[in-house]
Amino acid sequence: MAEDKIRLIQPSVSFQQVEADFKEVFETGIFTRGKHVQSFMEEMAAFVGAKHCHFTTSATTALWTCLKLLGIKQGDEVAISDFSFPATANVVEDIGARPVFVDVMEDTFNMCVDDLKSKITPKTRAVIFVDALGNPSGLHDVKKVCQAVGLPLIEDAACAIGSSEFGAKCGSIADLTCFSFHPRKLLCTGEGGAITTSNDEWGNWLRVKLLHGASVGANGVMDFVEFGYNFRLTELQAVMGRSQLETLPGMVVERQHIFKKYVEGLETAGFMPQKVNKNAYHNVQSIVFRVPQSIGRDELIKFLAEEGIESTIGTYCQSGTSYYADKYHSVQPRSKTLQSTTITLPCYPGLPTDVIIEKILAFCRFR
Ligand SMILES: *Cc1c(COP(=O)(O)O)cnc(C)c1O
Repeated sequence: MAEDKIRLIQPSVSFQQVEADFKEVFETGIFTRGKHVQSFMEEMAAFVGAKHCHFTTSATTALWTCLKLLGIKQGDEVAISDFSFPATANVVEDIGARPVFVDVMEDTFNMCVDDLKSKITPKTRAVIFVDALGNPSGLHDVKKVCQAVGLPLIEDAACAIGSSEFGAKCGSIADLTCFSFHPRKLLCTGEGGAITTSNDEWGNWLRVKLLHGASVGANGVMDFVEFGYNFRLTELQAVMGRSQLETLPGMVVERQHIFKKYVEGLETAGFMPQKVNKNAYHNVQSIVFRVPQSIGRDELIKFLAEEGIESTIGTYCQSGTSYYADKYHSVQPRSKTLQSTTITLPCYPGLPTDVIIEKILAFCRFR
């Protein structure tokens, strides 16, 4: 059973794809700050349509860096989408600010604009919109609210590389956009992250701060003009990233195809797919359904595991985790329901979707 187990994900990068460049990196001995990192930076900025791109070790350090950039500090509030991986809240908490949990729409799983409006206070310093599972639906609506009240919009696009809304790619819409290159995401460098922005002042801040605060002056001499950090990617990671950026658009099309098959196969059983708005383009980082009330989601995950099919919950209601529920007593109802009723199904090319759909339908008949 173990060997023909259907896994939830399969990173799309192959050794073959990177072998020649890896070899060259070892031969030259240039493992950091070389041509691959520089090229990947430029290619990534061009891919998303932003003026600047800077790399970090993860989406978590990318988000944290953005909060630092905006000068967010103790006593401030940051309004965040509640249905997300808890890294979104954790960075706000770490800075000493208060994460204000904004409930999400039960169809798109993304930030509810009305709830956001009701939670903006004089202490609010920024908004973090999360593209839940890669879905950018509603991002421009949130941007409009931020612009109207003069708040910077950070996009937690950890899952959303390749997604777009109204023809604009994630990375070019918010004031600051953060990506993840973790293996669960569509572009994998092992660990890694990126920040994109089209604000020149911020692009410069990121360049200096992420290089230990160093800058080369007009006289060609390097000086430490700031205090700073080091969250850099290595050349090997940049090689991996570059090779996948090329194949990403084609991969997204394939994934949308798989998503469609699941939707068609499961609609009769009352499974509701995560809604993608008409003007949104979803990279299908994850395929997530709301499981009908009559069918136990946890039992379904357990049943599939017994059948050798890996699946998991959608994602988390951050406000309902032990830490945040105990501290802020602000559990968001729709987000909480989504955490307990959603399922993520396997998604990668060559997947036997028919088999998975058949197993799920069989389970539903039995219930
Ligand atoms: C995965 C994920 C993160 C964390 O990304 P890392 O690169 O692992 O730090 C943050 N936010 C969301 C929405 C995620 O899905």
